[in-house]
Amino acid sequence: MARRHFVVIGGGLGGLATALRLSHRGHQVTLLEKTDQIGGRNRRQTLAGCEFDGGPTLMMMLDPFRKLFADVGERLEDHLTLTLCDPSYRVFYRDGARLEGTPNIARMLEQIQKLSGPDEAARYPGLIGELAELYHASIPHFVRKNYRSLWDFASPAQLKRVVQHRMLSNLGRRIDQRFSDPRLRMLFSFQTMYLGLSPYDAPWVYATLTYMEYGEGIWYPQGGMPAICEAVARLAQARGTEIRLSSPVARMEARSVTLESGETLTADAVICNADLPYAQEKLAVRPKQGRERRHSCSALVFYWPYEGSLPELLHHNIFFGRDFRGNLQAIFKDLQLPEDPAFYACVSSQTDSELTPPGWSNLYVLVPCPNLDRPFTDSDLESLRSQVFARLAEETSFQPDRVRGEALRTPRTWQSELNLNKGAAFGLSHDTFQSAFMRPPNIREGIYYVGASTVPGNGLPMVLISAELAEDRLERDGYL
Ligand SMILES: Cc1cc2nc3c(=O)[nH]c(=O)nc-3n(C[C@H](O)[C@H](O)[C@H](O)COP(=O)(O)OP(=O)(O)OC[C@H]3O[C@@H](n4cnc5c(N)ncnc54)[C@H](O)[C@@H]3O)c2cc1C
Repeated sequence: MARRHFVVIGGGLGGLATALRLSHRGHQVTLLEKTDQIGGRNRRQTLAGCEFDGGPTLMMMLDPFRKLFADVGERLEDHLTLTLCDPSYRVFYRDGARLEGTPNIARMLEQIQKLSGPDEAARYPGLIGELAELYHASIPHFVRKNYRSLWDFASPAQLKRVVQHRMLSNLGRRIDQRFSDPRLRMLFSFQTMYLGLSPYDAPWVYATLTYMEYGEGIWYPQGGMPAICEAVARLAQARGTEIRLSSPVARMEARSVTLESGETLTADAVICNADLPYAQEKLAVRPKQGRERRHSCSALVFYWPYEGSLPELLHHNIFFGRDFRGNLQAIFKDLQLPEDPAFYACVSSQTDSELTPPGWSNLYVLVPCPNLDRPFTDSDLESLRSQVFARLAEETSFQPDRVRGEALRTPRTWQSELNLNKGAAFGLSHDTFQSAFMRPPNIREGIYYVGASTVPGNGLPMVLISAELAEDRLERDGYL
């Protein structure tokens, strides 16, 4: 096979993994990244001597990570040191109850029994069993799949799986039917928020996320989540990929790209990792027309260097508000800031003390909020910050005056820095009509796509599978 030249636009995990795969096969790869750092959403944030994960904090579903390294003749363990976070996270409910999520079924049963009684606990093993079956039916047959026609989805064998596991039934409602304690209902359905999707708008197939947490557990790579992208970038460069930072692309065609600087590069094929809705609207020569696509919600992320320890917090922590459904209604339907917002707090220095000066904590807080279908204002920012401060001070030893600086990502900055349309931090929505074969495919007008808004979807493991699918598509099209 002749040596090809591929241009990859974007140095997020999707672009880096594709570059690694292609350069491992002996091809010339040039990767063009807009910003001065690789990683995209999974980049480093540094402030006052503290290192923070920029976006993703939960490493779940190790199989696609292992597969990437194995496919290029390496072992994941030789490049990343992984620790299981067990307990996975601490949950803070508004009524004062707390629970520690864990993949240890016996400990989960004990805690559910204490929180909600024996009848509810008795329903838990059945849930895990059902989710395990769903996971093993959906990942190989629906997720790791390049759809070429409706038939790939609607073959008799596939339809049988859809019906058997009721994959398209409503996730929120199914969890509500199983448990009567509202605290358990939120606990086992909020995971769709990792996709920026309400569980009440999500098909059951996304309950695989709950399985990833409770069936397989949450992992941490030493050095922080960006260490994943850094390891992949190092390997890609070792195999010859040229990574050019601060190189924003202005325009792309099937066999060439033009940078904002005016420079043009030609290639045998172009693979776009810049988020698909933005790229098809702003970079493609013939912008995408037609029905407007639906976007995920956004997220306000605070990075706070904290002088002191926060012993009541684990590495991962979930704070539920008073009204779970009201929160979802505000974010997804009314496009308002939620009252008494739910949020997630991460202190990765609890696992990795090298990330901060001795005795400090790197406090990262993510508050889900509407995307830019509604403007995000400075008073929204003030209001959310003061509510988070108040809740943390109420439930932990947190003292606002020990916060020694602040960096932020808001819906506006997700859009301006990383080109995520509408500031939708998780890309295109994963509602039923933008999932599986209805998600924008990884090829359009001769340009290949990889990343969160094409198939199969959002999240680091999915983006790695997206790189597998892009490679498969290039191979079938005769480029490899
Ligand atoms: C706050 C937050 C929390 C998350 N938490 C988790 C989690 O815990 N676990 C998990 O698995 N996933 C999580 N995710 C999702 C995960 O981060 C994403 O799915 C994944 O990082 C997306 O990778 P990507 O390669 O598709 O895109 P990106 O990371 O967005 O990379 C795209 C790259 O393209 C570049 N680019 C854009 N336009 C141009 C241009 N014109 N020219 C050149 N380059 C360009 C961008 O600068 C960027 O570097 C989270 C996401 C967010 C935002």
